[in-house]
Amino acid sequence: MKKCCESLKESLLDFLEGELAPELCASLEQHLRECPECEVVVSTTRRTIRLYREGSLYVELPLEVRQRLTLRLRSTLRPD
Ligand SMILES: [Zn+2]
Repeated sequence: MKKCCESLKESLLDFLEGELAPELCASLEQHLRECPECEVVVSTTRRTIRLYREGSLYVELPLEVRQRLTLRLRSTLRPD
């Protein structure tokens, strides 16, 4: 995996939750336009978050991403 992709993975959840700094958002979006691989990861993760919110989480993400996602979702997305 390319270095830029690694750093995208780091910021992915913040990006999807709208917590990423605007300048980082811009460079991330730029990267997505140039990197189909990461585009897939982002759309998959976005779908996963939606499923999680609907209570039907089905994960097809790399384990590492899934673990981070689950931790983050647990702490930030719980409706209560
Ligand atoms: Zn990439």
